[in-house]
Amino acid sequence: MNNLSKDNLRTINNKSLVSYADIYANIEAATVEQIESFGLPLSKREHHNAAVHETLLSMGAIYRNNNKSILSNKRISSACEACAKGTGSYTTFVSLRCHRDCYFCFNKNQDEYNFYLQNKKNVNGDLKSLVEQGVNLTHIALTGGEPLLHKGRSAGLFPTCRRTSS
Ligand code: SF4
Repeated sequence: MNNLSKDNLRTINNKSLVSYADIYANIEAATVEQIESFGLPLSKREHHNAAVHETLLSMGAIYRNNNKSILSNKRISSACEACAKGTGSYTTFVSLRCHRDCYFCFNKNQDEYNFYLQNKKNVNGDLKSLVEQGVNLTHIALTGGEPLLHKGRSAGLFPTCRRTSS
């Protein structure tokens, strides 16, 4: 697998891929620019020190996700494992409304982002429906937007989780 960047994009023949990757290359550049505007310049990738990685490896660190994640104590939550495998794991949200504006938020890239700013999901009904269809869930995540902007629906999901787990 090759990393696509502004530097090597033009060497790709597939125009659709170039056009799509260009969007994300621009997002990356804008994100770095925004971070650096706070006075936190990022070191360039080529400055990453291979010796540091060797040291971490010798200390027992485990590299995952194409070396983007480092596991330090050989423990990983079962929720992370389930999410990575895509089996038994279900993530939902009440709405995508949020009072924050984190620079790294990717919600605007989601399908139906604008719809779910204005509208709410029936998270209880959706979960019950999945269970009734025989989907075996071991881990359930509630994300957002900000779930606590919808306290009633968010809190109301947990009794449903408990009932469906028994
Ligand atoms: S949804 Fe999460 S990541 Fe996005 S702006 Fe709100 S708090 Fe930040």
